Amino acid sequence: DSPSEKYEYQAEVSRLMDIIVNSLYSNKEVFLRELISNASDALDKLRFLGVTEPELLKDAVDLDIRIQTDKDNGIITITDSGIGMTRQELVDCLGTIAQSGTAKFLKALKDSKDAGADSNLIGQFGVGFYSTFLVSERVEVSTKSPKSDKQYVWVGEANASTYTIREETDPAKQLPRGTRLTLYLKRDDKGFAHPEKVEKLVKNYSQFVSFPIYTWQEKGYTKEVEVDEDPAEAKKEGEDDTAEKKKKTKKVVEKYWDWELTNETQPIWLRSPKEVSKEEYNEFYRKTFNEYLDPLASSHFTTEGEVEFRSVLFVPPVSPTGKDDIVNPKTKNIRLYVKRVFISDDFDGELFPRYLSFIKGVVDSNDLPLNVSREILQESRIVRIMRKRLVRKAFEMIQGIALSENRDDYETFWENFGKHLKLGCIEDRENHKRLAPLLRFFSSQSENEMISLDEYVENMKPDQKDIYYIASDSLTSAKNTPFLEKLLEKDLEVLFLVDPIDEVAIQNVKLYKEKNFIDISKEDLDLGDKDEDKEKEIKQEFGQTCDWIKKRLGDKIASVQISNRLSSSPCVLVSGKFGWSANMERLMKAQTV
Ligand code: ADP
Ligand code: MG
Repeated sequence: DSPSEKYEYQAEVSRLMDIIVNSLYSNKEVFLRELISNASDALDKLRFLGVTEPELLKDAVDLDIRIQTDKDNGIITITDSGIGMTRQELVDCLGTIAQSGTAKFLKALKDSKDAGADSNLIGQFGVGFYSTFLVSERVEVSTKSPKSDKQYVWVGEANASTYTIREETDPAKQLPRGTRLTLYLKRDDKGFAHPEKVEKLVKNYSQFVSFPIYTWQEKGYTKEVEVDEDPAEAKKEGEDDTAEKKKKTKKVVEKYWDWELTNETQPIWLRSPKEVSKEEYNEFYRKTFNEYLDPLASSHFTTEGEVEFRSVLFVPPVSPTGKDDIVNPKTKNIRLYVKRVFISDDFDGELFPRYLSFIKGVVDSNDLPLNVSREILQESRIVRIMRKRLVRKAFEMIQGIALSENRDDYETFWENFGKHLKLGCIEDRENHKRLAPLLRFFSSQSENEMISLDEYVENMKPDQKDIYYIASDSLTSAKNTPFLEKLLEKDLEVLFLVDPIDEVAIQNVKLYKEKNFIDISKEDLDLGDKDEDKEKEIKQEFGQTCDWIKKRLGDKIASVQISNRLSSSPCVLVSGKFGWSANMERLMKAQTV
């Protein structure tokens, strides 16, 4: 070997390595994601330069990443056929902090007072090359740049302040181009050198890197081999000695090792929606989210212009928490990729509002930095635009289910996620126009099948101005309320709001197609049939009766009034115009208990 030259790390690098190793110990496995993303970057760079300098691609090596494991010795090698590094680049890139993501990482740590404490935050970062020292005792980076005719080896060790560089002279170790990392794992981390472990990590973190990732896997096939029958055996079975000696076959498993493609090189969201079948979307959904059932709907789209991203969204077939559970925004339902590299699925309302947190899917952005953190996400203008578009697409997708010929689908959706949408009516004023058409209620004319507000409006009488509702604790009590009498007589449809959240949701929506929602239990209900003369007459006749009732009931009621709203019941208790409805009162009572 040629002599090694010793180099000192830039002071900041040593500090950074300490911080990474100390703060990410519980999240060690990210090292593989980082190294694969570097390999993928190196391949991207080569491919990009190859456009203008085709001679760079002259060695007909495929653009790929290969990961080999030696579990007995605890060694992982990662080889890419990318751009490689010259000797100077080795010094600049691996010995100092350039303007790479690692520099930003360091700055963010500096900004957050309590460095190391919030490993959650750190887990979100692209921590770069040095994360390899989370698991490695020693790392060798052997690399050949097309700009240089020599190959160099960088060697670094955990907890060291120096590294070395030498020329690679061993002919057996020459690379046509690119970089090979050899990780000699720490004693406790040798488990990472198992082929299954590496496969699992690749599938989880780097499944959709756009270059093929091969892992070295043991395989087997069964073959039949002929065996001579044991004569003693044959005797035992009482066979005739003179019979022709029978040939027997037996199945044996032949083991061998070979490269196996471990990622999907063409992520489904990079393909054209026209080319992807429903079955492929369903399979992608089931695989990505470990689900057994197919989604109710999917939506695949690309946005261009101000912000560029691609996304595939799904409506799950069932609510994982059960339909009565309150919404938990901390699901792992949205997987964010930046340039095909998995970044995070740990969101808290950044990409979808809480009431839409049941939507699952992937989002792949070209505009966010690979080292995007929770903080960056929360402040980013790009993310705000993305969120708006995602929400709009989610609504279109749900609307699609509502419009589908199969009414059962929307019933299923409503049963599972109706509560979420009602919560949306309360929390997301901006989207009332999108939410309201998706609401469903029983009504006085449709007690068995829920109707939409559109269906209600279509069924309105020509001179009917408002949408009538009664809030109640059950369908039975809604059906039997005396408030209904007059409206039924006039054949006016009344919505039955029987879910506790319904009334608040409707009160927030306020209008639908310029029609007010009117609570038929309130005192000022006006059905447009007032006959003033007749009212005066009746008031005179029964005035004294009213006074008498008020005297008898005293403080229990606010007032006693003559009304024309009943047809068969003699009297009814109503709430004041500005008071709570009986249903609200029931709810408030239930909450204070
Ligand atoms: P970042 O990827 O954010 O730039 P890293 O710490 O991961 O930060 O990597 C530092 C630099 O080292 C990269 O920017 C790149 O120039 C160089 N590098 C790392 N791995 C490779 C590789 N496999 N091939 C070529 N260059 C690499
Ligand atoms: Mg990197």
